Amino acid sequence: MRDPNCIFCRIAAGEIPSATVYEDMDFRAILDLGPASCGHTLILPKDHFRDLTELPDETAAKVLPLARRIGTTLKDALGAAGFNVVQNNGEAAGQTVPHFHVHLIPRYEGDENIVSWTPGELSEADRDMILEKVAKAL
Ligand code: 5GP
Ligand code: ZN
Repeated sequence: MRDPNCIFCRIAAGEIPSATVYEDMDFRAILDLGPASCGHTLILPKDHFRDLTELPDETAAKVLPLARRIGTTLKDALGAAGFNVVQNNGEAAGQTVPHFHVHLIPRYEGDENIVSWTPGELSEADRDMILEKVAKAL
């Protein structure tokens, strides 16, 4: 199902032009308009799902093989040294367009690390709290 007010639905459907590197029945992959690196690509499902929590298993099962295929091709074709796969869920996680998408970001020799954090420490209290709340719920 598409959402007529969603820009990524309109791009995925071809209503709004985009630099499309790949398209099939289920997905369109486009160049990001604000790229983090040369070749930064977004994989968009053609149906509207807000984020990973809404993605049906059938669609989800197709996403990682496609990310591997396009990511590998970006790397080889553009002479990158690697690539990041980034996928944000919710505003707090940096998602700005609420239509599920996967970022493929080619990385070149000498690039700065763009997906990084300062490691903290796992306290015993946190570990116990997390295991109590999360592991039991899974
Ligand atoms: P998010 O922050 O939601 O994970 O990523 C949204 C991405 O979509 C950003 O990297 C942004 O540059 C890109 N973007 C936003 N609007 C457009 C658009 O209209 N066309 C394209 N090609 N990329 C867009
Ligand atoms: Zn949408």
